[in-house]
Amino acid sequence: MTSSDMNSNLNRLRSMALGSSSKQPDPPHQQEPRASPETLNARLKLRRTPNEEHEPEHYEDLQLGFNPSLFRSLERFLPENLLGSTRIEKARAMSDLLLRYSPESERIRVQKHREYRQNILSSYQRLHEELYTLDPASFFVPSFLNAVSNTSEENFKSVIARVAPGIYTFDMFKPEFCQMLIAEVENMEKWFHYSKSSMMRPTTINKFGVVLDDFGLDAMLQKLLDDFISPISQGLFPEVCGTGLDSHHGYAIEYGKYRDTDLGFHVDDSEVTLNVCLGNQFAGGELYFRGVRCDNHVNSEIKENYDYSQVPGQAVLHHGRHRHGARAITAGRLVNLVMWCRSSTFREAKRYQKDSSSWCGGCKLEKHNRQQAAIKATVEVLKRRGAEKAHVELSSKSTAH
Ligand SMILES: [Zn+2]
Repeated sequence: MTSSDMNSNLNRLRSMALGSSSKQPDPPHQQEPRASPETLNARLKLRRTPNEEHEPEHYEDLQLGFNPSLFRSLERFLPENLLGSTRIEKARAMSDLLLRYSPESERIRVQKHREYRQNILSSYQRLHEELYTLDPASFFVPSFLNAVSNTSEENFKSVIARVAPGIYTFDMFKPEFCQMLIAEVENMEKWFHYSKSSMMRPTTINKFGVVLDDFGLDAMLQKLLDDFISPISQGLFPEVCGTGLDSHHGYAIEYGKYRDTDLGFHVDDSEVTLNVCLGNQFAGGELYFRGVRCDNHVNSEIKENYDYSQVPGQAVLHHGRHRHGARAITAGRLVNLVMWCRSSTFREAKRYQKDSSSWCGGCKLEKHNRQQAAIKATVEVLKRRGAEKAHVELSSKSTAH
């Protein structure tokens, strides 16, 4: 389920839980949410209006199966007696509520994924514990830290380079961090191999790669999003994340022998994508970008061309709808950290807005063509009017004679 789906379900869920019993659907026959009498169930009635004075908790570090920002929004609707409960109790209450009213297929998917994650978390032995808590000083190179902490625009621009329209690059991670993360990813792959479990791959086009969120790195990556990537992106991509990015899908991709060799031409399911090269022994694997497009124009003609040679430790930040791919790796191995960053506000707004000309190259071109046609038509009308007026003047002159 995408965050926008989840947020759009919020109103529906809320109206259901508000207790309009005649409209409340029958509880599903199977996959009933786990009974938790101490918190919620049928008796839970949400407030009709949000409690604006209540400051909701953060839920990013919990394995909830739903977008953490949804929990923050929903918490303001919890009844007063539940607001004083522990964070875990509130999370469980809201999670049960969401599951109870989700479509059955979605409920099964969420529960399966929850079990999948719990299985990993209960037996996976972390190799580098220090990766699981964001430590800016030991993760980032000083120039990046300086760019984000120093408010000078000049300083920011000197570190974060705009290499093509909508594509930014900057040095981000220290070599030690990159090596540690590569080793951790290898350790995750090894765990799957020995546990004989089947792994959920990061995307539909990856045959290899690891979802880092499933292994417990989601809290660290969410903090990376909240404290660094979201504030940076708000300034660089105001058209899609002016209000900030609030959820992510974080994974590692691996290119090389016995791994994916390249990555086909595609767009991401994100508003903004952070892609950081971690490997240091490779040749090839260039990224190619071919213009930002909305769903309607994703196959439209290519006018933009930008190719990027990957640099270890360097990040590329681009619009999620920027059509792109990765060329085949010709030697060595390459591991990339990828984070699809999403904005629930943008996704909700997009449902009602048909005009994507602020960011889609195709829509922009159509709008331009429409404007040109309108100008041409106006000029024609004016010309015709001018000719008619001249004709009238001429004929009035000739009748006066
Ligand atoms: Zn478009």
